[in-house]
Amino acid sequence: MKVSERRMAENEVVFRKANEKVTDDLDQLKKLAAETKQESLVIDDINLEFYCECSDENCRMRVKLSTNDYSEIHKNRARFVIVPEHEVLSIENVISRGHGFWVVEKHEVPSKDATVLKETDVSNV
Ligand SMILES: [Zn+2]
Repeated sequence: MKVSERRMAENEVVFRKANEKVTDDLDQLKKLAAETKQESLVIDDINLEFYCECSDENCRMRVKLSTNDYSEIHKNRARFVIVPEHEVLSIENVISRGHGFWVVEKHEVPSKDATVLKETDVSNV
């Protein structure tokens, strides 16, 4: 993988981490609701606005999908959710075109250690 392509792939990991923080917080909230028997606080499958997980470090667009769909898609660590047409075909394939969001799969699974956004040539916004 070329350096520029690795940067693009790593940016997607950074966006995914931000999104996963949201789903983690939600899990905490669910646990709390269960522990304190707050039956009014039923959090099951809700629609959230997740960050687009594309390669453009300047992209702050959102994709709306349910937390269950989000978790399902990310069981495969090579898959990311993006705003339609934010794909970069040199590093990924589009595997599903849904309503409001697309799912891409990386040719190579990027390092999960990426923590900061890096500059790329991609411009989706
Ligand atoms: Zn994007």
